[in-house]
Amino acid sequence: MKLPEAFSLQMQHILGEEYRAFVESLAEPTPVTIRLNNRKKTSEPVITNGNVLWHRNAHYLAERPVFTLDPAFHAGAYYVQEASSMFVAEAIRQTVDTSKSLRVMDLCAAPGGKSTLLASLLNNNSLLVANEVIKSRIGVLKENLEKWGFPNYIVSNHDPEEMIDLEGFFDVVLTDAPCSGEGLFRKDPDAMNEWSENSVQLCSARQKRILQAAAMLVAPGGILCYSTCTYNEKENELNAQWLTQVADFEHIKLQIPADWGIVEKKYGYQFFPHKVRGEGFYISVFRKTRGEKQEARGKIKLNRLPQKKIDVLKEWLEIPNAFEYYEKPDGQIVAIPANLSNEYSVIFRALHKRSSGLEIGQFKGTDFIPSHDLALSTVIAKDLPAVELSKEDALKFLKKENLGVDLSHQPKGWLLAHYQGLNLGFMKLIGDRINNYLPKEWRIRMEIPE
Ligand code: SAM
Repeated sequence: MKLPEAFSLQMQHILGEEYRAFVESLAEPTPVTIRLNNRKKTSEPVITNGNVLWHRNAHYLAERPVFTLDPAFHAGAYYVQEASSMFVAEAIRQTVDTSKSLRVMDLCAAPGGKSTLLASLLNNNSLLVANEVIKSRIGVLKENLEKWGFPNYIVSNHDPEEMIDLEGFFDVVLTDAPCSGEGLFRKDPDAMNEWSENSVQLCSARQKRILQAAAMLVAPGGILCYSTCTYNEKENELNAQWLTQVADFEHIKLQIPADWGIVEKKYGYQFFPHKVRGEGFYISVFRKTRGEKQEARGKIKLNRLPQKKIDVLKEWLEIPNAFEYYEKPDGQIVAIPANLSNEYSVIFRALHKRSSGLEIGQFKGTDFIPSHDLALSTVIAKDLPAVELSKEDALKFLKKENLGVDLSHQPKGWLLAHYQGLNLGFMKLIGDRINNYLPKEWRIRMEIPE
């Protein structure tokens, strides 16, 4: 691999004698890792090639399968994620009491790897806001969160500097900043072609702007977690130091076993591919020392659903009383966790480009049409009619093709397609017809080999 000269010099400066080992590691294949969904367990064991040291629910795979051809992937049983970046969960575990009800903001969230990582740490009394400034990246972020199934999330599409009304609101803010991507040269050679000293400079300045906005969002005593997938000081240590100078934050030291291979710096922790089984990554964690907490107060400005319709919904959710139900102007019904309705109302007031909570479906007359979001959510009732599909039929369902299995003996009406016990989506049996309710844009497009 031919590295840019200025980058080589920079890495020689950072690594000294280890530079050669670093360069050699770039010729090695990128490890493939998946992180299992703690809320969606399949009947199939993972064929593991070792655990990620800092995440007990994550595994290395011996080779990269075609994930698109695994129905369990579409059901949200796991997320394919680079190993080093999973360390965010360990950093939060060490610094935050996750048994509490938490308000969490993932400020630079698309495609959603760390949002799903955070969702797995949170309990059902906590709220996750996943924000992404680039509109074209919102679709994939929503899809990944929907698949993951954690119900209490809002996706928003704002520049962090537009979030002034959320000052002091969050217990945890993750800023996984856009960066020069030096840590991804092995995984994504395009990152190397785009690298220059000038882009490092530009990224560093942009990160400062994002960090300043992020700092404002944190409640006193709350945590700001800053990460990049790069090595240079301008985007990492110098920005971390800068934060402690311009805002009321102290950096937090983490407990990390020496055999994990993670390098401790003055403010943060650096992952190098010749020392860990993962890509380049940097993380630093801070606690806010002063400021004012924004209390959550307010009323949701959506129509409350009439009791008659709520009664219909009861059979669709495992714990229907855990939610309040509202109707959006477009007729979509949203389920909002009853104990978080104040928090939701603050977000709804402060952010206008955002989702409205878990959309569970809509009424057509007196009939309820359940949504795909509900099919994949972990709050769906467990006793709804379902049919377990073979892998072949599950892939046909996901391609929206006719199934091989005979469903004529099934009662008419809504039926969940299952694979390894996990929901893939809804079907409706009407007469001899089977209507497949998988959204068109989620359909598998590739040819399925015989
Ligand atoms: N956290 C994501 C994950 O784990 O899947 C990856 C995030 S990626 C490193 C950085 C994100 O920041 C990108 O999605 C990018 O669109 C977004 N971004 C770009 N410019 C930004 C800005 N000025 N403010 C906030 N986010 C920005």
